[in-house]
Amino acid sequence: MSGTRYSSLPARTKPMSRGSGLQRTGRLRPRSEKTQRIYVTRRQVVAQVLDANPWCQIRWDDPGCQRRSTEVHEPGMRSRGADICNPAECVAGCHYCHRMVHDHPAEATRRGWLIPSGKKRAA
Ligand SMILES: [Zn+2]
Repeated sequence: MSGTRYSSLPARTKPMSRGSGLQRTGRLRPRSEKTQRIYVTRRQVVAQVLDANPWCQIRWDDPGCQRRSTEVHEPGMRSRGADICNPAECVAGCHYCHRMVHDHPAEATRRGWLIPSGKKRAA
């Protein structure tokens, strides 16, 4: 879709009327049944990882974060195929440090908080 100019698109023949509503009725199915099952396990894994690691493990800033862990990070990243239901692939962290990891991917990779796709985490 390069070079599509909206001004060159045909104009609506009839403007949408306010309050006409959607044609679709009912709600969208938010997750497939398979994904739903994965997230049942995922919630248990998150609880387990946070329980085992009450304090932030990422500790991005020097001399070190002292906040409680509230989030679970996957250094292998789910988008790169990490198993989000495997506690061994999860790290507990505070919101700030987790944010820093994803906002600074190069530095996070250097520190081992992100693993390039195709590599395994050194345990
Ligand atoms: Zn932290």
